[in-house]
Amino acid sequence: MSSNNTLASSRIAVLGYGSQGRAHALNLRDSGLDVVVGLRPNGPTSIKARADGFTVVEPAAAVKGADLVAVLTPDMVQPTLYKEAIEPNIKPGAALLFAHGFNIHFGQIVPRKDIDVILVAPKGPGALVRSEYERGRGVPCIWAVQQDVSGQAEARTKAYADGIGGGRAMIIKTDFKEETETDLFGEQAVLCGGASSLVQAGFETLIEAGYQPEIAYYEVFHELKLIVDLFYEGGIAKMLQYVSETAQYGDYVSGPRVIDAGVKARMKEVLTDIQDGTFARNWTAEYAAGLPNYKKLKQADLDHPIEKVGAKLRAQMPWLQPSTPKPAVEPLKKMG
Ligand code: NAD
Ligand code: MG
Repeated sequence: MSSNNTLASSRIAVLGYGSQGRAHALNLRDSGLDVVVGLRPNGPTSIKARADGFTVVEPAAAVKGADLVAVLTPDMVQPTLYKEAIEPNIKPGAALLFAHGFNIHFGQIVPRKDIDVILVAPKGPGALVRSEYERGRGVPCIWAVQQDVSGQAEARTKAYADGIGGGRAMIIKTDFKEETETDLFGEQAVLCGGASSLVQAGFETLIEAGYQPEIAYYEVFHELKLIVDLFYEGGIAKMLQYVSETAQYGDYVSGPRVIDAGVKARMKEVLTDIQDGTFARNWTAEYAAGLPNYKKLKQADLDHPIEKVGAKLRAQMPWLQPSTPKPAVEPLKKMG
């Protein structure tokens, strides 16, 4: 990174070394910036950070002396991390950076008034943020400034987005409210919640009508990837181009029967719960209570018959096995 980067003489503390944390830390370092990683000493990812050549210290020590603190731990641990490690140690005039606005927007973290509060959210998982950077490209990022005391908040935010590679692609301005509400809505209504419920309902419909679970799995679940890849590469237009006329006609006449105005009305209810803070209140209460409903609902998803037949079928499709071992799974992560 050229020395005119606003962060060129800044020390950056990256707290958390999971999906986003690792990618940000590596990309920032390769952009010539000074990065220290803050983690619990015996946490699951500190070995990895050390193996990648980083100095790893306790979060509080990383925050002391940092000009920018990137908070890249799971969202639900951030309020305690802020109270214990950040608030007492962050330098006046330093910047506090998030990759998701939940805690600031819903008031779970009330940041000190003498620091910048900024956001850079890559529109992709950490592995892609890293691999695109290594190819000389970047993943588009959205960015926001919530609090600017230094007069440099916007420049710092953009410099950070540049440092992780986002500036090579595209950066889009947003605010904490928009980023938080749209991110939650997407994962609830369409991506995680909507898609998994749609697939389960389709699977149940075929099973209840007497069809074989193996056949149902291929038709309503496995092949979804082909469709989503076409969406991703070329929009609905590309999907329509690659499926048969019969599939297209069925899409036009049956899609709107399934996803009808009632679905959209309930999507609006989901959005309202997000906007008025109902979802955030329920989720923070659920987390504080030790996740009783979360665990029950998760178990129900894991026990769904589609999981059993899916595991059996996937074992016969070796190309689906990941070539590298999966990273240590954290108990909670952002879903989307
Ligand atoms: P993750 O679960 O992959 O990693 C979390 C990291 O934090 C791990 O290194 C873990 O050891 C560490 N950690 C956990 N508790 C800690 C504590 N108390 N103190 C210090 N470190 C602790 O998390 P992630 O998915 O990278 O998410 C990080 C942030 O990025 C979240 O705000 C998330 O909403 C946001 N985000 C994630 C994605 C994504 O694709 N995963 C995309 C955009 C934004
Ligand atoms: Mg579900």
